[in-house]
Amino acid sequence: MTLHHNLIAGEWVGSNGVENINPSNTNEIVGLYATASADDAKTAIAAAKAAFPAWSRSGILERHAILKKTADEILARKEELGNLLAREEGKTLPEAIGETIRAAQIFDFFAGEALRLAGEVLPSARPNIGVEITREPIGVIGIITPWNFPIAIPAWKIAPALCYGNTVVFKPAELVPGCSWAIADILNRAGLPKGVLNLVMGKGSVVGQAMLDSPDLAGITFTGSTGTGKRVAASSIEHNRKFQLEMGGKNPMVVLDDADLTVAVEAAANSGFFSTGQRCTASSRLIVTEGIHDKFVAALTEKLKTLVVDDALKAGTHIGPVVDERQLATDTDYIAIGRQEGAKLAFGGETITRENPGFYLQPTLFTEATNQMRISREEIFGPVASVIRVKDYEEALSVANDTPFGLSAGIATTSLKHATHFKRNSEAGMVMVNLPTAGVDFHVPFGGRKASSFGSREQGKYAAEFFTVVKTAYTLA
Ligand code: NDP
Repeated sequence: MTLHHNLIAGEWVGSNGVENINPSNTNEIVGLYATASADDAKTAIAAAKAAFPAWSRSGILERHAILKKTADEILARKEELGNLLAREEGKTLPEAIGETIRAAQIFDFFAGEALRLAGEVLPSARPNIGVEITREPIGVIGIITPWNFPIAIPAWKIAPALCYGNTVVFKPAELVPGCSWAIADILNRAGLPKGVLNLVMGKGSVVGQAMLDSPDLAGITFTGSTGTGKRVAASSIEHNRKFQLEMGGKNPMVVLDDADLTVAVEAAANSGFFSTGQRCTASSRLIVTEGIHDKFVAALTEKLKTLVVDDALKAGTHIGPVVDERQLATDTDYIAIGRQEGAKLAFGGETITRENPGFYLQPTLFTEATNQMRISREEIFGPVASVIRVKDYEEALSVANDTPFGLSAGIATTSLKHATHFKRNSEAGMVMVNLPTAGVDFHVPFGGRKASSFGSREQGKYAAEFFTVVKTAYTLA
């Protein structure tokens, strides 16, 4: 089987390989991918540092052309890359193709942003002096990504980093190196100069840690668990560098008595269970007012019965497998915890077998949960959601905000008054009305509050806040 190498200083290097296993069929090896050492990470950082002066002064047409070419190739290969994504991560083929299209849209957006770089010219407070405010790249950016969006998250960090003139050392999650390797290959062939993008696949505890320990990274952008996020933060403060963290969520979906039942059930089923619940924007707390509670639980349970859990590539599959054995164990542990805590198992809760060996779990719904239970407070990251019964809108809002996290929040209602109040008073970074808590656009800011996020927003033009630094220049006329 061909070994996919790391890309360091423009060369494909590396010998040791790890197998990328398909969670829908653990007998299938998706590919063999090199593992970098801590020294490889240091070499990659040195290469990115050496490439920075030239790339930071490269022309906007060159950056535009490379990012546009990358977008075009990803789009042209959406079926093939979507297939790779579905096989390495386990989300269904339509979801995987959708994510691939989104990655292309992100590269396309930042190809355009390269042409729209702008500053400000202002009069000074003093006579005969002009003031210019410009944005400059910050230097070498370390990019560390999780396994749940193997192509979109790398895209939304790499594209703005390169667009604004930074160089990159990129470490994808060890579980899903395939799409990241493909992005590096496409950018390399699109004409990126040597050393501008370095790919170092391998273990977080080795390669990621070497990045955290380096004094030569000007910034680290990270998505993953709260624990690793804290390490990124601590090391970044020690090295006086910028950092941006996207971490967990425990996103609420409020359903009010006046909700359109069909809209509410579709939004809850999508938020809680699609992509196997492995989205930081997934909703695992369904907060439902008394008047609609029983009807909603009955309708959602009926809906869950219709969802097919199977191989990610099979036509008709709604929910693919859990990503790996460790995450499956986490999910089933939380299901046991929910039972012990006294929540009622209304649907699912069991692992299931399919034609091929894989990590299959039924969508699982608890009812009669309270907001103090561990299943309501801790991120599970699987197809598991709980219904919390509340008296009215005021209690629903209070429960929705009573969480350490603040990424996304949703409300199903036909009341303009409550929708408007919820948008203003939710303590989440993203609020959805009559829509799932997951599923966002590529051209507008993404991010949360409280323990979910730290630093400036990702995506859209707001990405410039992290990937550039502002300079103020004064000139005597
Ligand atoms: P991690 O935080 O461990 O992994 C995220 C990234 O950080 C991976 O690339 C990982 O590498 C890397 N990493 C791990 N340790 C270090 C380190 N010491 N220094 C630098 N980088 C490191 O999350 P997991 O993938 O293990 O997922 C665990 C939980 O995190 C999930 O169950 C979920 O709750 C949450 N999560 C949240 C996500 C979100 O989008 N908010 C996304 C994914 C997970 P490697 O792959 O080699 O471990």
